[in-house]
Amino acid sequence: MKIGGLIKFTLIDYPGHVAAVVFTQGCNFRCRYCHNPELVYPHLLQESMPKDDVLSFLRKRKGTLEGVVITGGEPTLHLGLIDFMAEIKALGYKIKLDTNGTKPEVLQEAIERQLVDFVAMDLKAPLEKYSLITGVEFDPKIIQKSMDMIVASGLPYEFRTTYDKEVLTDEDIQAISDSVQGKNYRVQECLPVAKEKAALKVMHDEV
Ligand code: SF4
Repeated sequence: MKIGGLIKFTLIDYPGHVAAVVFTQGCNFRCRYCHNPELVYPHLLQESMPKDDVLSFLRKRKGTLEGVVITGGEPTLHLGLIDFMAEIKALGYKIKLDTNGTKPEVLQEAIERQLVDFVAMDLKAPLEKYSLITGVEFDPKIIQKSMDMIVASGLPYEFRTTYDKEVLTDEDIQAISDSVQGKNYRVQECLPVAKEKAALKVMHDEV
């Protein structure tokens, strides 16, 4: 696990739960509006936080915190994720996993081993337009597989789209919503500041 940060207390990141947030480093997408470039671009990564420091913190907060949000970056890229989740579950926490849906096999293992209690997955665009947002070519069937798995899991879940109006249209948003039957689907505004920040980091990355 490469952990890039920890928020020790949040009331807004895990619906209905007082939680901590763990940020993993690294991502296989390069979204135009990425809000966390310092967790994505290799030259911006800070020294990782030891996993044991996070577990030690969680051990001390048992009874105060209820849940842990694991987000990124993209958590499912990490080979140690499943073991890390098992260690957090052993402490009695609920886990919310944020993912871009590119590793359905990891998602499947987490679901089958009952290591996850809530899944939030980004739907970047209608599948045929994905690469316009993510900046990388990707087999859209993999995204579809993760979507289907989450719906079939019986777990609480949320799909969400950042509405980048330079690329997406209202019809695109409707098509994404239709693809999940409009259930547990949220559209969030694409904040200009996030896009500018990401663009600056990309420029820097290219130097
Ligand atoms: S998937 Fe998330 S973390 Fe990765 S580049 Fe896109 S917005 Fe950033």
